[in-house]
Amino acid sequence: ILHIKNLSKRYGDTNVLKNINISVKKGEVVVIIGPSGCGKSTLLRCLNGLEEIQEGEVRLDDQVVNPNKKNLSKNREKIGMVFQSYDLFPHLTILQNVTLAPIKVKKRNRREVEKEALELLERVGLCSKKDDYPRQLSGGQKQRVAIVRALIMHPEVLLLDEITAALDPEMVREVLDVVLDLAKEGRTMVIVTHEMQFAKAVADRVIFLEGGKIVEEGEPKKLFEKPETDRLQRFLQTFT
Ligand code: ATP
Ligand code: MG
Repeated sequence: ILHIKNLSKRYGDTNVLKNINISVKKGEVVVIIGPSGCGKSTLLRCLNGLEEIQEGEVRLDDQVVNPNKKNLSKNREKIGMVFQSYDLFPHLTILQNVTLAPIKVKKRNRREVEKEALELLERVGLCSKKDDYPRQLSGGQKQRVAIVRALIMHPEVLLLDEITAALDPEMVREVLDVVLDLAKEGRTMVIVTHEMQFAKAVADRVIFLEGGKIVEEGEPKKLFEKPETDRLQRFLQTFT
């Protein structure tokens, strides 16, 4: 469903991503791991057109999403993204935060959107918070709202960039459980995470990125238990 071909990305003279090739199948969960600064966030942003690329292309099925400035907002609907900072609108309630884009951008019917929003909030255990404001929620709750806000746009691919990195440890679980659930129901996702246990549990395939290049990739069991490169071995040791 998602094809990344010979992608290279530079900021000025710095080559941040070098000749990246990845194909993601429908229903597949690909997890990207790697040291800080290796280009993980930049890669995700290239996938939904938030970053210009210098070489190569990103396609969703047979449609080029990057480079493609014309259909930027359409493509962002199809490739949803959740960040580390959940940036909900502080002056809107949870329900309003979730329903804003489908009503304003997709011009969908309000009643129908609200019904769907409540079902999704129910799924992540937050229906009772629908009329609260973001400041009344914990970090984990806000991040679950951010996930619902992405889901209600019906994305074909969901990109998650270290969505638990800013959370207290006790809230990490509740957010990762929601993501595990989405994986089970067959969502196509590309996930950047530093939670190695979670990566092992959720991934169909893991990609180890270093210095903007794919160093190693494969099934999680093989990659975590029998890393082939010294670099991945050393990286994994920093987590034990
Ligand atoms: P982390 O694990 O810390 O989030 P990352 O793997 O997500 O790291 P990126 O944020 O993708 O790393 O950054 C990759 C490289 O690109 C870094 O060296 C960073 O300094 C550089 N970089 C990122 N954004 C910009 C920018 N807007 N302008 C210039 N350089 C940038
Ligand atoms: Mg990052």
